[in-house]
Amino acid sequence: MTPIFPGSEDAAGQRATLGVMGGGQLGRMFVHAAQRLGYFTAVLEPDVQSPAGQVSHYHIQTDYNDPAGLAQLAHLCQAITTEFENVPAQALQTLALTRPVAPGAAVVGIAQNRIEEKAHFAACANLSGVTCAPYAVIETRAQLQAVQADRADLLPGILKTARMGYDGKGQVRVKTAVQLAAAWAELGGAACVLEKLLPLTAECSVLVARGWDGRVVSFAPQRNVHVDGILAVTHAYEGNMPPALATSARDAAVSIAQHLGYVGVLCVEFFVVDDGSAHGGLVVNEMAPRPHNSGHYTLDACDVSQFDLQVHAMAGLPLPQPRQHSPAIMLNLLGEVWFNANGQPQEPDWSTVLGLPGTHLHLYGKLQARAGRKMGHLTITGPDVASVKTVARRAAGLLGLPGLNET
Ligand code: ATP
Ligand code: MG
Repeated sequence: MTPIFPGSEDAAGQRATLGVMGGGQLGRMFVHAAQRLGYFTAVLEPDVQSPAGQVSHYHIQTDYNDPAGLAQLAHLCQAITTEFENVPAQALQTLALTRPVAPGAAVVGIAQNRIEEKAHFAACANLSGVTCAPYAVIETRAQLQAVQADRADLLPGILKTARMGYDGKGQVRVKTAVQLAAAWAELGGAACVLEKLLPLTAECSVLVARGWDGRVVSFAPQRNVHVDGILAVTHAYEGNMPPALATSARDAAVSIAQHLGYVGVLCVEFFVVDDGSAHGGLVVNEMAPRPHNSGHYTLDACDVSQFDLQVHAMAGLPLPQPRQHSPAIMLNLLGEVWFNANGQPQEPDWSTVLGLPGTHLHLYGKLQARAGRKMGHLTITGPDVASVKTVARRAAGLLGLPGLNET
């Protein structure tokens, strides 16, 4: 991979341009990072109004599979990445015929399918010692019946569609074999995995960046709190989890990226289970082939953010080891923040929130607030963990945000 330097021009006089498949908030923050370095950017996104499309030099407004749109993206850009894992792997394959694409279609394809993803984790378990929750694949009625008959150990469990799930969508919790059959029918008989419901004591995630040359850098694990299956709070500071657990999670994430031959930013999510096991009850949940909501704090609390690393990795620039300079707590801002208790629209109390020390507001430019929709996030940084927690509690109180009670 020949590095694509920011601000450079190719033989045809075209400015160094980086492309991204998808126009959501992750694409927007990628565009910001790329532009700050001096790249031009192009976004391929069907929606006319999108967080990333609004801020990019070029917005190609076509379907992700549209041959003309893909050709235009490849023509404009010297390298291409993706911002959400449900971009058709086929589209990435097409782009890769003419341009470097990171991460590649094959690894994105694995992350898109829980069945393949779990098989990969199982293969990596030999290296890392960290495995996934007990599960069974249900793609056919015969498999459903076999699980009903022989896998009582997986109940109570969560039935998850193999494809297209996010923010807890495409998941049904089941307690009995009868409920399992009903849930599978409810999910349309789609390919699924039934996963044992684990008694979680915590959740964490690790962000890893791997370059074309195989160099890997990573952030320390962040501890995540989910509410109703959606990330609500990320705790990113020393002491956010036991050090041995943090080391195991980081090592496991790195070995998963290495084993995939991954290029780009990868997020690996883990459960922590109180089972007295050798690895401190660390269980790998899933991976996202892109920067992740739980890594947004890196924008304000680290010298290099997850989006900076995405730019560096895809463009073949060196990958600096990131350094976190401030403890941080990230609070997700869902659509609920824009409505009062009676369901009436309201403007959040920014005048107070933005006056609190160390608050960094990021809104994604979405024009309509809806319940459960990720509209933005607020990161709180400070000189020490205690003051960050105090300000985070105050901000969460002012904005009516859940998820901070247990800390
Ligand atoms: P996203 O892609 O937004 O992270 P998702 O829809 O892919 O979410 P998962 O990560 O599989 O969903 O699950 C969402 C949340 O549900 C988890 O973060 C966890 O809180 C809970 N959960 C999922 N699987 C289990 C399990 N086996 N045992 C206990 N809790 C679980
Ligand atoms: Mg998840």
